[in-house]
Parts: sequence; C-alpha cells; structure tokens
Amino acid sequence: MIDLILLPGKEKSLQRFHPWIYSGAVSSVNGQAENGETIRVINSSGDFLAWAAYSHLSKIRARVWSWEREESIDRMFFRDRLASAIALRANTDLSCAVRLVYAEADNIPGLIIDRYGDALVIQFLSAGAEYWRQTIAELAMELTGATRVFERSDIEARRLEGLTDRSGLIMGDNSRSTVEFLENGAKFEVDIIAGQKTGFYLDQSKNRLIMRGYSSGCDALDCFCYTGGFTVNLLMGGAQSVLAVDSSANALAQAQKHVCMNYLDPSIVEFKEADVFRFLRELRDRNRSFDLIILDPPKFAYHTSQIERAARAYKDINLLAFKLLRPGGKLATFSCSGAVDEALFQKIVAGAAVDARVHAQIVEHFHQAQDHPIALAYPESAYLKGLLVKVV
Ligand code: SAH
Repeated sequence: MIDLILLPGKEKSLQRFHPWIYSGAVSSVNGQAENGETIRVINSSGDFLAWAAYSHLSKIRARVWSWEREESIDRMFFRDRLASAIALRANTDLSCAVRLVYAEADNIPGLIIDRYGDALVIQFLSAGAEYWRQTIAELAMELTGATRVFERSDIEARRLEGLTDRSGLIMGDNSRSTVEFLENGAKFEVDIIAGQKTGFYLDQSKNRLIMRGYSSGCDALDCFCYTGGFTVNLLMGGAQSVLAVDSSANALAQAQKHVCMNYLDPSIVEFKEADVFRFLRELRDRNRSFDLIILDPPKFAYHTSQIERAARAYKDINLLAFKLLRPGGKLATFSCSGAVDEALFQKIVAGAAVDARVHAQIVEHFHQAQDHPIALAYPESAYLKGLLVKVV
C-alpha cells in the first residue's frame, strides 16, 4: 500500500470531512502511485486518516473515498455508495430526468451521473473516478436498469487531472443518442452526444416549475434560454408572449422543438439569436418592456479571482433588466457561480436596482434542485442561487 504523508498540522480539513488534499499539504508519497490509484493518507505521526484517490498532476493531489480504516475501496464499496445516492432520488419517476450522483456532495468525488429516462450520462471528472470507470458504468447500469450508458467526460476539469476528453456510448443500445423525458409534466428531449454539459440543466427543474406559477398573462423575456426550459414553463403557465434569447442557434432550434412537443402556441414565442448583453441594450433603446424577465446566465466566475469581473457582468444585465420591467413586473435572476455566494449576489442585484432607480422586493429565494444535494462538509456543492424580485 502506498502512503501519502501529510505535513504536520495539515490534517484539519480532513478531520472536518472535507474530501480534498491539496498538493501543498503533502509531505511525501512513499511509492509510485498510478493516476487514480487508491492510497492511504496518514498524518505526520503515522496515524491513519483516510483512503483516497491519488491524482498525480492536479493541485487537488488526492480525493478521499473513505475515512474508515476498515474500508476496502473495491467494487462493493462503489456499489454501496452508488446505491445510497440512487436511494436518495428513489421517488423520481422513470420517465423523468434526474441527477443520480452529484460527486463530492454524494460522497463519490469526481463522479456525476444523470439519468434521462432509460439512459445514463456519466462524467468522470477526477483521476480517481476515471480509474474505476468500467466498474462504475457496469454498476450504474445494474442498479438503475438503464438500457444505455453514455459518457460526457469532455470538460475542462479533466485536463487539470491529466485526463483527456472522452465522450460516447460506454455500454448498451447504441441505435440513437437522443432521449425524451418529462420534467414536471413538460416534455423535453436531449441529444446526449451533441448537447451542452450533460444535455439539460437539471439543477433548475423546480425553479422552472415555480416560474410557471408566475407567468399567467405576462409578456415575458427569457434570457439565456438554452433549449427553452423556462420558456416552455412560462407558456404552460399562460404567458401572453415570450421573447427567448440565446447566443446558440442549435439551442434555439431545440427550444423551438420543445415548444411544439408540448403543443404550445409557437406564434406567441419569438426566438432571438443574440448576445444578451447587447440585446438588452437594444430592447432598452427600442423602449420595449416586459412583465416578467428571466436571467439565467452561464457561470461568470470559475474562481474566486474572477469574482469582481463576474459581479460587474451580473450587475450589468440585472440593471438593464430592471429598466425593461413594467411597474409591478418581476425579475427572476440567477447565478450558478459558486464563487459568488448568496449574500454577494443579493447585494449585486440590490445595487443594480438602485442604479436603475427602482424599488424592489424579494418574492422568492431560489436554490439548486434537491437532486443536487449540498454536503455540509463540502460547502462548494452549493452553487446555484437566485431571487425573484418584484418592482413596486
Ligand atoms: N435557462 C436555461 C439554461 C441556461 S444555460 C435552461 O433552463 O435550460 C446558459 C445559456 O447561455 C447557454 O444556452 C448559452 O448558449 C447561453 N449564453 C452564454 N453566453 C451568452 C451570451 N452572452 N448571450 C446569449 N446567450 C449566451
């Protein structure tokens, strides 16, 4: 067994069950560990701390699998961990989409598994998860009864782990890469191979339903609409019109398809391919106004060093949105940047309202859906926050 020995005093975060061991905390490794191999973590006095997956390149040098000395990290271990993550989502109907495993927050660092109907989409994001790739794929199929398992391990995070991109079918039926599913009674379809991320932003599912309840009779503007998750819900809730904006033509084409798949009236929806930052200014200059605006931008801050720039971007779009709202109108505004916490986000939105010279009240606080749990020991798992504000 290869031991990773920590520098004196560097075990504090591990004792609080945070699963990461940074390279700066490591004194030495007594052997040549393969990338992703399980190693034993000990403190400077030689006491056992944890079993972890070694990552030879990443600044996060190891991620903890278990704090139990008696544990063996093997097929049974992953079976148990996967089964308990799946059990947490046991009440999700098979026709729906759900995040079954949310990495560190589900005690399986570096592993994300989403289920869309009968298909699984796995992301192996760390060397440790990659090391157990085949075992995990087999177990996931066995435990869920899925008929096909895809991989979308083609995101930036893998490069930091010394892993190359990989995507495609791992096992099962390879006749098609599209799958239909329901979300709160609305029908959607993803192309698992061609879609962004794992195809659909599942973290917003309950917020889309909440917004359905606020849309009756509204002229709505859905900014960063992607494949129309909010647009479909606004229409289902009885919106009078929706203007849906995104910079991706492919996403807009799929959004249009989703409107039709749900038998909603396409004549009251306008899809606009544009940069939201510019388009909001254009709408302001044309004196357009709305009863309801959604702002669901992509992540602006990937790191704490980008907070300031992100804050400016959030302020900019929120300020413009406030200017486009009719009296009594509502703005649903989100941030999925983990580095921008809830308090800061609220401050930014408040600053935007002041600069737009509007008075507004918070009507709802939004968070990520329950299938994206937040581990108390790993606060980084909380990233999506939002506010519904009403201008008075
Ligand atoms: N609201 C969506 C998810 C939004 S994801 C849903 O519920 O499914 C963010 C979207 O922003 C992506 O579709 C991306 O194409 C788009 N995007 C990123 N930068 C943009 C920009 N500057 N202008 C317009 N769209 C942008």
